[in-house]
Amino acid sequence: MMSSIPERPLVFQCRLCRTIVADSLTIEAISEARRTVSLREAAAVVRAADVVEDADSTFRPLRCASCSAAIGRTYLTTPLEDLRDLYTLDIDALASYELGTTTAAAPMMVPAPPGGGGVDRLEATLIAEIRKVQAVALQLDDRLEDLEKRHRKLAQRRRQPTTTT
Ligand SMILES: [Zn+2]
Repeated sequence: MMSSIPERPLVFQCRLCRTIVADSLTIEAISEARRTVSLREAAAVVRAADVVEDADSTFRPLRCASCSAAIGRTYLTTPLEDLRDLYTLDIDALASYELGTTTAAAPMMVPAPPGGGGVDRLEATLIAEIRKVQAVALQLDDRLEDLEKRHRKLAQRRRQPTTTT
């Protein structure tokens, strides 16, 4: 899926029920080898009360709040110190949706500020999308007005008695 922190924001969903469980803005670490992504924050994730002991670590399993699928763990003790207390989700238990993929080449995209700025980029993408929708709405409005005018003219013509020359 990915080996480094993705360029554009990603939304992580439970693979089974598609509930959004997290996004890439709070990624702390990604491990290709373990196929996990560790995040500071997660939504719709339930931390189990029971503590599971692994070979060299202890953790609480994480489940999808919606469908209870096992989607990861929160390490209590681990040799991987930097992963402690994070939401470490199994990449294979997730589906992801990359925001802004359809507008990447849109000229209205505000250039991303150097270094991070994921939220700014998301905002720029959304603004670009809204502008597109507005433009389409205006076009439709113009066409509707045009049609109404033509309709009125036709109706008038029908009402007028035919003039003789
Ligand atoms: Zn689920």
